Amino acid sequence: MPLKKTLGITQNSDLSDDLLNELRAELESRLVTLKLDMKGVRQNLVESAYSGTADNDSGNNADLSVEEQSQHLLLKEKVRTSTEYNNVVDALKKMDLGSYGICNDCGDPIPEKRLRATPSILNCLVCQEEFERETKC
Ligand SMILES: [Zn+2]
Repeated sequence: MPLKKTLGITQNSDLSDDLLNELRAELESRLVTLKLDMKGVRQNLVESAYSGTADNDSGNNADLSVEEQSQHLLLKEKVRTSTEYNNVVDALKKMDLGSYGICNDCGDPIPEKRLRATPSILNCLVCQEEFERETKC
């Protein structure tokens, strides 16, 4: 098993230093993009709230619900972006601690292929699927 325990920190020793550096660079640039995204979404929310009150002199409820829908979509986008942002921050923290690539829930090493596809992933496939099943219900 490629698991080794040092001072209570479980490491994924499958991951080479080269790969870790590569993934770290990817995570750091993702962090910059997400920061910009969050700024953009916040701005859109403010603008859409503003135009919502300005355009509402007709008192038309249909307009209002379209406005509400777009606010709702923006809020969803905001949640999605900030969730990913938190994951990226966590992943970078775990890299510093040397526990990157270990599933948050079960402590199993996350396969290299999965980390390459999504460097900010914090769970193995099994735990992720379980989580998705739970949230769907
Ligand atoms: Zn797991």
